[in-house]
Amino acid sequence: MYRVVIVGRPNVGKSSLFNRLVGRKSAVVADTPGVTRDLKEEVVETDTGRFLLVDTGGLWSGDRWEKKIQEKVDRALEEADLVLFAVDGRADLTPADHEVAEYLRRKGKPVLLVATKVDHPTHEHYLGPLYALGFGDPIPTSSEHARGLEDLIEAIWQRLPVRQEESEPEVAAIRLAIVGRPNAGKSSLLNAILGEERVIVSEEPGTTRDTIDVPVDIGGQRFILLDTAGIRKRPETFVEELAIRRSLRAIGEADVVLLVVDPFQVGDRELKLANEALEKGKPVVLVITKWDLVPKEEAQRMRRLLKEKLAHLDHLPRVYTSALTRQNLERIFQEAVRLHELNHTRIPTSELNRWVGVWTSRVQMPNFKGKPLKILYATQPEVAPPTFVFFVNHPEFVTRAFENYLKNRIGEDLGLKEVPFRLVFRGRRE
Ligand code: GDP
Repeated sequence: MYRVVIVGRPNVGKSSLFNRLVGRKSAVVADTPGVTRDLKEEVVETDTGRFLLVDTGGLWSGDRWEKKIQEKVDRALEEADLVLFAVDGRADLTPADHEVAEYLRRKGKPVLLVATKVDHPTHEHYLGPLYALGFGDPIPTSSEHARGLEDLIEAIWQRLPVRQEESEPEVAAIRLAIVGRPNAGKSSLLNAILGEERVIVSEEPGTTRDTIDVPVDIGGQRFILLDTAGIRKRPETFVEELAIRRSLRAIGEADVVLLVVDPFQVGDRELKLANEALEKGKPVVLVITKWDLVPKEEAQRMRRLLKEKLAHLDHLPRVYTSALTRQNLERIFQEAVRLHELNHTRIPTSELNRWVGVWTSRVQMPNFKGKPLKILYATQPEVAPPTFVFFVNHPEFVTRAFENYLKNRIGEDLGLKEVPFRLVFRGRRE
């Protein structure tokens, strides 16, 4: 379903507009800013079709457009097809309005400018200054008097991107964390991905302090590069510990982690970051960068060396790339998509149990005082990471060796070895 998100500085009337469009009073509306605390979502039924309307009004904590709120709005905007930029049609534009405008311009989503509180046709004469925001004609509305709502809905449908088939499943954006030791080449890689002309962070001091997630479209697949501001931090201007904390946060929010590896600097750091990701259930692509610095005749030897150094991570896919020559840049994203899908593998219960039945009949199961461990039933209740629950007669009979064996089996037989799947053993009486 289309997602239409209302954004605007506090107190411009977002919630009232939301309620009017949805057609009932579901949110608490008050004149004091910050009364509604959460993101609200409701389906709006119109003659043309349905769309999901999202109100960001609840995210405000004060009356300023703060970076913290931007981050939350970021989230709401990720999946948005259209933004309704609400401005107060009765008041002068404020610096906060301009900040929101600037922010929305950076986001690059289609924006419809909506003037609120235009209770009377004569008020429309005063909307001229709103053109300064750079989003074209404001659409005058009044939630109080239910004015302009039909026009707004018509404009919404005009601006929504045409979809080939409404029933086509929506491909969600894949969230990528780019992590690695300082000087691994993360920010160079980011630049290579985004293209030099794309300025996403201002160089002025103080403006790069917050996280900036950048949506990109590569080969028709949407990605969100997490915390690009953190990636661009120069190590010398940045406290290392903070950098680590930021990476961990990005890993936590990611669907897939790109671990950038400098082939001349491989060690404990890389293993730690990879483990951090895998333990959180995030698949990892090893992105070996600066490959242009490796002479052709050395490449083979270098690959072998890296394989040895990263032996623990041998099961992870690796891409040899360079920010300079851009070799294999697209491969990184192909691998990310592949791992993302793999991490969402769902093995049907019947298939899983058939498979368990076949191999348990062949292997020697661990036993305790002559009583063997029995797997009674298996199921996969979760994806990302795929989680397999084995109901067994005695969970305490499960040895480390058996668990490792089972892990290898699942990795190989079910083709999941590249992603961090999990095993859980539960007791159940026979
Ligand atoms: P970050 O700290 O991980 O963001 O690392 P940077 O992107 O700032 O890169 C660190 C250094 O490696 C810089 O001097 C870059 O110019 C250099 N570098 C990064 N990627 C490449 C590459 O693909 N090829 C070459 N030759 N140098 C690179």
